[in-house]
Amino acid sequence: MSKFSDYDFKGKKALIRVDFNVPLDADFNITDDTRMKATIPTIKKVLNDGGSVILMSHLGRPKDGPTDKYSLKHLVKHLFELLNPGNTTPAIGEASTRVFFANNCVGEQAGMTANMLRPGEVLLLENLRFHKEEEAGDEAFAEKLSKLGDAYVNDAFGTAHRAHASTAVIAKFFSPGNKMFGLLMNDEVKSAEKVLHNAEKPFCAIIGGAKVSDKILIIENLLQRATDIIIGGGMAYTFIKARGGKIGSSLCEDDRLQTALDILERAKQKNVSIHLPEDSVIADKFAADANTQICPSDAIPDGWMGLDIGPKATGIFNEVIVKSKTILWNGPMGVFEMEKFQAGTKAVAQSVAASTTNGAFSLVGGGDSVAAVNKFNLADKVSYVSTGGGAMLEYFEGKVLPGIAAING
Ligand code: AMP
Repeated sequence: MSKFSDYDFKGKKALIRVDFNVPLDADFNITDDTRMKATIPTIKKVLNDGGSVILMSHLGRPKDGPTDKYSLKHLVKHLFELLNPGNTTPAIGEASTRVFFANNCVGEQAGMTANMLRPGEVLLLENLRFHKEEEAGDEAFAEKLSKLGDAYVNDAFGTAHRAHASTAVIAKFFSPGNKMFGLLMNDEVKSAEKVLHNAEKPFCAIIGGAKVSDKILIIENLLQRATDIIIGGGMAYTFIKARGGKIGSSLCEDDRLQTALDILERAKQKNVSIHLPEDSVIADKFAADANTQICPSDAIPDGWMGLDIGPKATGIFNEVIVKSKTILWNGPMGVFEMEKFQAGTKAVAQSVAASTTNGAFSLVGGGDSVAAVNKFNLADKVSYVSTGGGAMLEYFEGKVLPGIAAING
């Protein structure tokens, strides 16, 4: 593996796998460009060195080949704007970075445009997933892609858990000196490694969200590493019911009650403190205009459901978070999308920010907790916000991510 920041791209074509899987509205406007912005420093470094850039990505989940809805052509204008701030007309000016588009990621046009690309120019290839070979990890397809560039840069942490042609298989067609992580991927991997392998104690993991079943593996792995595990959100009620509590009609996975008990038992053996919410904001329906009250989490009346952690739980969680030196946060504490049930998630976000100000290292990963820190304007008050939801989860489950292994190996 080569080090991206030390590599001289002068006169070279960098084939960069990015994660431009951004949400688009019905008129193809990008509603959240975080993933595009996050990779701009990587692109700029190559261009500043005097190299050219070929970008490959997927968008959405097209099932039957090319579909207008999933075309990356909708991103070209915004990519141009990000690369040429202040110059919103995609006309070709002297100082502009030119952005070309190939309407197929392989084939004659892609090959020719890549060949003609001059230093300082960018080519965006059409959606990789228009070819089923991408997700199948097809070697011949990966080899075709590899021919487009001199060096392979993986900057797509969001798809690092997939063994696809462009994220993993392609790496074998480049010598060790010509394949590397981009700046974004490098930061993601470094932050994740710091938390998983080099965490300063006390290490507090905050796990929330809807389902226990999605988070069992991550909790099991964290039992080996964390000092405290805070469990909030809908998944907490499966634990509370397993311990004999009354949870009304709160979210519960009855087939996971034994798993929850096993986790609590193993935590005790390992001296890991598991913190469940002592009280909850309960509601008489799952709706923004529901009637609410505060109630002990193990005495929720029939017909009522816990939709947020309560004030006592918030206070206890805050105490744990502010004394921690390392914090991992995945998943909200309640239905934070609705104003009545956002206080717990907001308070946890504030505690994580306060602890970070006091010197803790905090990593926020997973779609909804990232959405939460953004919603509460605290993204720049935590140490690192991961762009990779599924990939970050699998990393913390202890799995080897194919996108990382392909570069390291
Ligand atoms: P996940 O994708 O598993 O991290 O779950 C995130 C979702 O869980 C969010 O959309 C939340 O609204 C939802 N959620 C959090 N707490 C609760 C709760 N107590 N009851 C129902 N849904 C919840």
